Amino acid sequence: MRCPHCDQADRVAVRRAKLAERDGRVAIVTGVPMEECPACGERWLSFEVAETLDAILRRLIASGAETATAH
Ligand SMILES: [Zn+2]
Repeated sequence: MRCPHCDQADRVAVRRAKLAERDGRVAIVTGVPMEECPACGERWLSFEVAETLDAILRRLIASGAETATAH
């Protein structure tokens, strides 16, 4: 699927780390499936992935660790 952002390349499926920060705490989720444009670097998350990711990041931050990671 063509990138609507730059129209230079096709979006490719990748797995990347996602990071969230709140109140000085950082939560990282690795291996998040998403699509990325190799030309401009724009990324897209599916709705389901975004929802799941949000829940995981919230849980990690709520757990109170300074830095937390989940796969
Ligand atoms: Zn692009």
